[in-house]
Amino acid sequence: MALILVPTPIGNLQDITLRALEELKSADIILAEDTRTTGFLLKHFSISKPLQSHHIFNEHGTLKKIIDQIKSGKKIVLVSDAGTPAISDPGYLLVRECISHGIDVNCLPGPTAFVPALVNSGLPTDSFVFEGFLPVKKGRQTKLTELSEEKRTMIFYESPHRLLKTLQNFIEYFGSDRKAAVCRELTKMFEETVRGELSEILANFTDRTVKGEIVIVVEGKNSKKKNEVS
Ligand code: SAM
Repeated sequence: MALILVPTPIGNLQDITLRALEELKSADIILAEDTRTTGFLLKHFSISKPLQSHHIFNEHGTLKKIIDQIKSGKKIVLVSDAGTPAISDPGYLLVRECISHGIDVNCLPGPTAFVPALVNSGLPTDSFVFEGFLPVKKGRQTKLTELSEEKRTMIFYESPHRLLKTLQNFIEYFGSDRKAAVCRELTKMFEETVRGELSEILANFTDRTVKGEIVIVVEGKNSKKKNEVS
């Protein structure tokens, strides 16, 4: 009796793992954030399974049904649109509920956007903090003020239309010479990583149309000093 969480590719379909395919093929029901998106993925790998939607708008309401399904012996696999479920995606609530019902939780290792972005950034990887999406309005300033003291490398998810605004905020709260990297379209055809000081990165993106999926990685406070000493 277990809930299996299966990471799916963040762009390049070849990043699916052999175990992911095995788990998808042996599932009774696949819980999907968007059944259409997952339907395309399954079709690509010639897998046909019943899909049940599990997204932020129904994840509270469907918990009991899913727990009952698992307890009745059904093999339930959770996927999100891309990457690892529960990482800035639905999954946490269900994991917590399964644990409280004594159901095993097994998340396969696999694609997620923040790990390759962190490593590509060239910033310290020994200690980091994953922040996901910053609040858009309420709580944004409080969060940025709090993070201005953060010493670990910080990782953010961001949408392309908010990239410039967020970079401007980072300059305001962290300083224009703070090192950072913007990783765009990881594993896809137009993948790029722009590294430099925040002001240089902002200048790079200012006069062009920013498209695609983005991870921003920012050096922690005083990380330069720490590196000089060690
Ligand atoms: N569960 C996913 C994971 O494990 O990374 C994250 C899902 S979250 C809803 C989507 C965000 O992840 C995007 O807005 C972007 O910030 C980041 N992301 C996903 N795929 C990406 C890619 N190929 N390149 C860069 N960022 C990506």
